[in-house]
Amino acid sequence: MSEIKEFKTESKRLLELMINSIYTNREIFLRELISNASDALDKFHYLSLTDQKLEKRDYEIFLEINKKARTLTITDNGIGMTYEELENGLGTIARSGSAEFIKNLKNKSDQETIDIIGQFGVGFYSAFMVASKVEVRTKSPYSDKAYLFKSAGVDTYEVEEVEGLKEGTAVTVFFRKSTKENDFDEFLEEYTIKRLIKKYSDYVRYPIKMNVKKSVPKKDKEGKDIAGKYEDVWEIETLNSMIPLWKKRKKDVTDEELAEFYKQKFYDYQDPQVNIFFNVEGALNYTALIFIPKKAPYNLYSEKYEKGLQLYSKGVFVMEKCKELVPDYLRFVKGLVDSSDLSLNISREILQKNKDLENIAKNVEKKILSKLESMLKNDRDKYIEFFKSFGVNLKFGVYDQFGEKKDLLKDLLLYRSVNQDNYITLKEYVETMPKAQEYIYYASGKTKEQVLALPQMDLIKKQGFDVLILDEEIDEFAIQMLQEYDKKKFKSINQGDLDLLSKDEEKKIAELSEDKKSMLEKIKEILKDEVSDVILSKRLTDSPVCLVSAEGLSFEMEKVIANMPHEEKPKATKILEINPNHPLFKALENLYNDNNDLLNDYASLLYSQALLIEGFTLKDPVAFSKQMSDLMIKVAKY
Ligand code: ADP
Repeated sequence: MSEIKEFKTESKRLLELMINSIYTNREIFLRELISNASDALDKFHYLSLTDQKLEKRDYEIFLEINKKARTLTITDNGIGMTYEELENGLGTIARSGSAEFIKNLKNKSDQETIDIIGQFGVGFYSAFMVASKVEVRTKSPYSDKAYLFKSAGVDTYEVEEVEGLKEGTAVTVFFRKSTKENDFDEFLEEYTIKRLIKKYSDYVRYPIKMNVKKSVPKKDKEGKDIAGKYEDVWEIETLNSMIPLWKKRKKDVTDEELAEFYKQKFYDYQDPQVNIFFNVEGALNYTALIFIPKKAPYNLYSEKYEKGLQLYSKGVFVMEKCKELVPDYLRFVKGLVDSSDLSLNISREILQKNKDLENIAKNVEKKILSKLESMLKNDRDKYIEFFKSFGVNLKFGVYDQFGEKKDLLKDLLLYRSVNQDNYITLKEYVETMPKAQEYIYYASGKTKEQVLALPQMDLIKKQGFDVLILDEEIDEFAIQMLQEYDKKKFKSINQGDLDLLSKDEEKKIAELSEDKKSMLEKIKEILKDEVSDVILSKRLTDSPVCLVSAEGLSFEMEKVIANMPHEEKPKATKILEINPNHPLFKALENLYNDNNDLLNDYASLLYSQALLIEGFTLKDPVAFSKQMSDLMIKVAKY
């Protein structure tokens, strides 16, 4: 006797969406049905520990394709369902994870809903993305009767009693007819099923078996292979590898195995630089397996790159890139997290607010940073290799989120410096500072030679102070965010007062500045469109002039911003410093005193030189050359 029943209303909308779903990820239906089967085996096993009535058995999940009938049947010998369980389990959808899911569906567009379904699935119901009809045959050890559930997923389902079923559940999916846009026939192919099992259910801990056709060499009467002759035989094959590497005990897994696993899973041809493998047990249980590649993937900095770790729930694949699991500045790490406490049916929104996931992410971040710390301490060369590939990300981390992570990251930064041949940490810089040195100096430049040649380095070189070389765009942003290290402030060699002079020398310059005020004013007037001030320098010894920036935007930042697609391109405020001890200063004085117009040329040529030394381009190179040639003619004796 069969009964026809209506699905609960909240299920109907979902079913409708499933049926009309065009989501390309509909293949996840198989993952969902396999997970249900695996759960049913878990339940059986758990109950059998205390209930003698439950017969011991070899647990398995069996798949069978029937091309003619266009079906795939997934059979498990697990706990099965009683009539009530069938009603509650398949007749309504507002349960467990799915209930949350339904709540989240409110006010969502159909497309958004389908995306969520595609990504997370909603258990049994996802079968209707591919099926025109689903039949479930089930027998529970707690019921004398067995049942057949049938539904085409629209409004109703039927349940009838059937005879002769073994304990367990068999779900038969009747695939829809293929259309031009949608191919359902692929699910009737052995290789598709094998591929899907590998992709989604490889680590389910029960064997997933299928009768597969194999071509084997034909044998002669003596049982020897006949060369070149083959025949088809059917053989039961286990499609999944069952034990995930990360489920093994850490001490049973070698670095080589981890490297192999990494290469296969994350499509790298090189071994990983670092692996981090840990297991957490307690209120929240999970295993994490994390890798740092040797080289940054080519697209790491493109917008298309997606950060994140793979997420598994009890060995079942949930998603490829769970971005909530890694902070932006660690976007280069690869790996996975497998937790028994996360549900499969979990939507994007839930994921974003999930406290468990947040906890895992925090811990993952901590573990990665402490691994890096220990690498820096114990294997400097390896750390330097790492830093060359990914240091820029750590610097970004210092700068990002208003410096929230700067204290965590500052000791992981490496810099080159003018006095050292190798990379140093900020700590090492500070430790080697002479007593007289108050600041941590830095300069932008690509090479040591380039920085040493800067006019602003004159006095610093004399004092023997070390200067950090900043060679990446992000550097200065990160340093400005740090502001200080170990109570020592950072100071750019071309910004502000360097405090390099003695009190006497300071006084002398102040007096001289007062004395030459009108000349400096005159030069400032000549350059009024270019500089905010013209002053006597306290940092030059050998060079005639240099440019420095006032508080605020630095020269490097100006250059970085100039290359960005901003509407407004703010400029650093430039100050021209003149070296009062240089012969050119005398020349300027003479021209000024003689009221000679050449002062204009001198001033603007000196300014252009200073710009070039700073690595800026000249606004008008042609005018610059002409001015230069004219001057050469004017002063030529020959
Ligand atoms: P979920 O697995 O999230 O609970 P499903 O819609 O996939 O949601 O399944 C609903 C319920 O139906 C399950 O909780 C379980 O009780 C029952 N069920 C589904 N598949 C099986 C199965 N193969 N064996 C036993 N019970 C099952």
